[in-house]
Amino acid sequence: MATSRQAHWAILGGTFDPVHIGHLRIALQLRGAGFDRVLMMPNRIPPHRPSPQASTEQRLDMLRLATQDLDGIEISDIELRRDDCSYSAITLEHLKEEQTDTAFTWAMGTDAWISFDRWFRAEDILKLANLLVINRPGERQTMAHWQQQQWLNRQASLEELLTSSAGRICQQTWPGLDISATGLRHAIEQGDNIQFLTPDSVLEYLNQHQLYRNN
Ligand code: ATP
Repeated sequence: MATSRQAHWAILGGTFDPVHIGHLRIALQLRGAGFDRVLMMPNRIPPHRPSPQASTEQRLDMLRLATQDLDGIEISDIELRRDDCSYSAITLEHLKEEQTDTAFTWAMGTDAWISFDRWFRAEDILKLANLLVINRPGERQTMAHWQQQQWLNRQASLEELLTSSAGRICQQTWPGLDISATGLRHAIEQGDNIQFLTPDSVLEYLNQHQLYRNN
């Protein structure tokens, strides 16, 4: 008798201040890689960085606009519904309670992986989920000792990752886009044209709400 594969969701957490095509390309690649769902998960109080400039509602609105026509790519507001700091370990514990039969892979760019050992309860995250690390153009830092050790013990191909419920780490080099939300915010502040760096619907929203302008 054929056994059905465990559902497997990928999570792309971030500040999305604002969402840009770098994020959207990753979400599409994850979906194409075989994950049943891709959750883009905006955080409320990011633990590792300054607070976002746009409000929670605005970041959520922009994500909804950016993903409205993308099949299998959804927004999760689980971290926005909590008042506390958005720690991935706690988020995953909540998700596991809600979705007992689902495996999770937390996706991140190499910039996030470099500092992953400083994430709250990093070892617990690896008990709850796999990690998928995506090359980020311009990121030149090499893996520190902790990351090297984890990589040696846990490395997996994409196929292996998709059939593991937690604890494996996969690195993928997908066509890279050297785009960051910081770059977009600076460009807007300087009055530069950012068309094609984020969807037109988001661009319209940014103009309507006069976001990231220097006034
Ligand atoms: P900021 O410039 O404000 O730090 P960001 O562009 O890095 O923002 P985040 O919302 O912080 O965007 O990123 C969410 C996740 O997406 C992180 O894991 C980050 O590494 C990854 N990411 C963002 N942009 C890219 C990109 N162009 N290529 C690969 N990964 C990316």
